[in-house]
Amino acid sequence: MSTVYDPENIFAKILKGDIPSHSVYEDENTYAFMDVMPQAPGHILVIPKTPSRNMLDADPATLATLIPVVQKIARAAKEAFAADGVSIAQFNEAAAGQTVFHLHFHVIPRVEGAGLKP
Ligand code: 5GP
Repeated sequence: MSTVYDPENIFAKILKGDIPSHSVYEDENTYAFMDVMPQAPGHILVIPKTPSRNMLDADPATLATLIPVVQKIARAAKEAFAADGVSIAQFNEAAAGQTVFHLHFHVIPRVEGAGLKP
């Protein structure tokens, strides 16, 4: 099993503009966009612009700029989607459920009693 960063992964293509995405936030280091198959309304993906495969691969400087943005987006999504809480999820390698091999955080607004889509 390869653990090398593939520059042709889906999120790399989104960053290059080769695949369209619904952008919700962008700065010098970070990009955030709506998940195409949302687990719940307002499901957002937050990714670094640097080519990191996942948390196991990422350098601390990337995480240092990324995590505050995840927090900012979680707060904004909670407000925007009138949620009671927010799930923040992140998977590393296929065995842990990762399907796109560019580091990403799922930010999922959660409404009391609504659950997640299967
Ligand atoms: P993972 O399982 O790797 O943590 O999550 C990958 C996420 O990327 C999934 O929630 C999936 O719906 C989302 N995704 C996969 N392909 C695309 C795409 O082309 N556009 C967008 N916006 N999301 C995608």
